[in-house]
Amino acid sequence: MRVVLVSVFPEMIGAVRDNGVTGRAVRDSRLELATVNPRDYARDRHRSVDDRPYGGGPGMVMRPEPLTEAVEAARKISGAGPVLCMSPQGRRFDDAWARELARESGLVLLAGRYEGIDERVIASQVDAELSLGDFVLSGGELAALCVIDAMARWLPGVLGHADSAAQDSFASGLLDCPHYTRPEVFAGEPVPEVLLSGDHAAIERWRRKQSLGRTQERRPDLLERLREAGGLSASDEQLLRDYAAERQRGS
Ligand code: SAH
Repeated sequence: MRVVLVSVFPEMIGAVRDNGVTGRAVRDSRLELATVNPRDYARDRHRSVDDRPYGGGPGMVMRPEPLTEAVEAARKISGAGPVLCMSPQGRRFDDAWARELARESGLVLLAGRYEGIDERVIASQVDAELSLGDFVLSGGELAALCVIDAMARWLPGVLGHADSAAQDSFASGLLDCPHYTRPEVFAGEPVPEVLLSGDHAAIERWRRKQSLGRTQERRPDLLERLREAGGLSASDEQLLRDYAAERQRGS
């Protein structure tokens, strides 16, 4: 998988290239990262990538000529796959989209700066606009890095068996269960007994119940979607009732 970040701050890619799971994926050649800097395509004397907005108003707008050339160069490097523009006006990014992207062989991520990008670049060069959420960043780089990280976890072999992505939140339509490690008692709080029992079926049942219950409490929208899609079995519904009853008893 080859990802090309188009950005005037290409060094920001170091955050994912050099660290953690994504860093290992790069070293193992499961993930190739490249950057293209629009400034290298700015041919005026000051190599400017931005200019004043038509119609007036505050801020600057990214100029179409260098950006278009940069995206075209990025497309050549990525070889294939979509061009996504980071934008608070885009479709909200989620795990399902991350999984879809992981099936591509290439990907171009375009990070805006200033007030944003000349609309004609978006119209002519971009397949989809992607938003991280309802807030405004000062640049698209952090959004692009989030996309790379969330997507890379779905590339074959990037996560080991033990921390397989499929067990994390959203993969099954539910939030993950709570996790515990040593010591057995911390700050007076013991680890749930069942996790020490060695009874794998009971542990699985407990984890499923916690996932279901948490999703009900924190993200009822996710649970409803799963229920409508027929993803909740009769035993899941029983676990949800058990969870609610235990909650009421305060256990
Ligand atoms: N004027 C624009 C915001 C520009 S912010 C507007 O109000 O819609 C500058 C750049 O940061 C954008 O071009 C985009 O690439 C990035 N950005 C800001 N917020 C973002 C978000 N929520 N998700 C993804 N990218 C974002």
